[in-house]
Amino acid sequence: MTKVLVVEDNPLNMEFALEMLKAIGFAAEKAVNGEEAIKKTEKEAYDLITPVKDEQGNIVNFVSVDKEITERKSAEDLLNKSKEFAETVLNSMNDAISVIGANDFRIIDANSVFLETYGMKKEEVIGKTCYEITHKRAEPCTPPDDICPLVETLNTGKHSTAEHVHYMKDGEKRYVEVSTSPMIDENGKVVNVIHVAKDITQRMQMLEQLRQKNQFVNATLESLPYPFYVIDTENYTIKLANSVAHKQGLREGSYCYVAHKNTKPCDTKDHQCPLREAKKTKKPVTAKHIHFDENGKPRDVEVHCYPIFDNEGNVNRVIEYTLDITDRQKIKEIRLENERLIYANGAKSEFLETMSHELRTPLNSIIGFSELMKQNTGLNEEQRHYLDNIITSGKSLLSIIDSILDLTRIEAEKMELVIEKFDAFQALDEIIDLIKEKAAKQNVLLKKELDLQLEYIEADRIKFKQILFNLIDNAVKFSKKEGGAVTITTRKVDDMAQISVSDTGIGIREKDIGKLFHVFQQVDTGASRKYGGTGLGLTITKQLVELHGGKIRAESKFGIGSTFTFVLPLHARKEGIK
Ligand code: ADP
Repeated sequence: MTKVLVVEDNPLNMEFALEMLKAIGFAAEKAVNGEEAIKKTEKEAYDLITPVKDEQGNIVNFVSVDKEITERKSAEDLLNKSKEFAETVLNSMNDAISVIGANDFRIIDANSVFLETYGMKKEEVIGKTCYEITHKRAEPCTPPDDICPLVETLNTGKHSTAEHVHYMKDGEKRYVEVSTSPMIDENGKVVNVIHVAKDITQRMQMLEQLRQKNQFVNATLESLPYPFYVIDTENYTIKLANSVAHKQGLREGSYCYVAHKNTKPCDTKDHQCPLREAKKTKKPVTAKHIHFDENGKPRDVEVHCYPIFDNEGNVNRVIEYTLDITDRQKIKEIRLENERLIYANGAKSEFLETMSHELRTPLNSIIGFSELMKQNTGLNEEQRHYLDNIITSGKSLLSIIDSILDLTRIEAEKMELVIEKFDAFQALDEIIDLIKEKAAKQNVLLKKELDLQLEYIEADRIKFKQILFNLIDNAVKFSKKEGGAVTITTRKVDDMAQISVSDTGIGIREKDIGKLFHVFQQVDTGASRKYGGTGLGLTITKQLVELHGGKIRAESKFGIGSTFTFVLPLHARKEGIK
């Protein structure tokens, strides 16, 4: 309330008024000089005396303002106090807070965390745009690609949040969660926006670490070539599975027993359930099961089950992986079968060797005594003929027995090579000498095409001659009725001796070439003429060549002729050959 102290235009009264003013505590002199005089009241309020002058400048009245000015002062105090309070609150907040103008995005105020965070002083910040301080750029964010919660608040008049990247003064990148709230005037218009930036860099880094960890775990699971999955022991559902498990229907949310094509958990009657066992014993369990693969085929699997515990120490999940042991089982069976065959083969070789020895002795006697009997001059023609038959058949039988003996020795790895350097041409001539009579009889011409570089060779002389004999003898034997030619060619190829026996005989069908070197294989000649033999010669020949570290091959055109070529190392492998 304003009181007007009306003083009469009379000096006495004026004096009296001044005395009164002094008496109640005003600096009355000040008032007389035309200045305002203030008095502090008891209640921490203020009274004010203002002189009122006339046109001539004489003080005619004093206006005393007491209660009203006290109220104003109190309101000011209150405002100051609430400003102080607001500032204290702002500065006590742990987030970077700023007040931003709605029209120009300029910062009006900022708290101490804001200044600390962006490394700036208040005067550097006030009046600058929020984007140049926080994003370090000259343009405001452009939604929708660049979401700006501030713009959102301006548009909607509501609270908004978004995750942003802010840059500190030194350029350091920080992740922040920005919340914006509108400051609305009495007309409902947004005048300012309160911008709160919470530093979530640590949270983001942890999330990133978590993401990387997850990625690592997923990559590890995916790298496994077998099904790997985690099962909830309460309801048998899959919680996590790699893509190999997915192929068998073991997907997140599905039941583990789909692997068995079951519609309910496995019964202990069917087989032991490793999950139940692991839950009961709280220990890892391994069990053999039958699971169905992606094509619905049953497979023998080994299930490995590991318990995972909850806080009470109960098994609430299990990790399972399954190894397909179907092939392992098969391999085991094959290995056993192999062992059985090796044993049987050994027994067969031993039997054949013993038998051959036992047969050889009486057979040699039969041949020897028959030859002796043939020298007896008292025999008639018929008896001589019988004796010739006995000798020829005996020799043929002896040669078969010798072949069987050779083969069993090679198979039992008992064949030993005696390597020496010898004249290959001479060895060849010795074989030709043995066969030439037969060749002449069959009208077959024997020809040689020799590489002079190959005169000497390192090999087992007897076995070398045996190889040559078998090939040349076959070439003559399988000549055509009208005869033909057999050509023996030698060539030095790198550090190998290459020897070919070509004939112009009956030839071999393409489909039979693969069978040639197999035991007892006599391919169908399709000819009316009968050819003797056992089908052992080429098998033994191949084994002898390979024993020397060489190779043999056959080429043929049915009805035109065949070529058998073998190569031997010029310098024989002495070690390793038995
Ligand atoms: P065999 O004692 O029957 O001659 P081999 O193992 O030496 O036994 O030969 C196996 C089979 O290969 C022969 O029976 C024959 O059918 C075929 N064969 C071998 N050499 C020739 C050749 N030069 N021409 C045609 N056929 C051949």
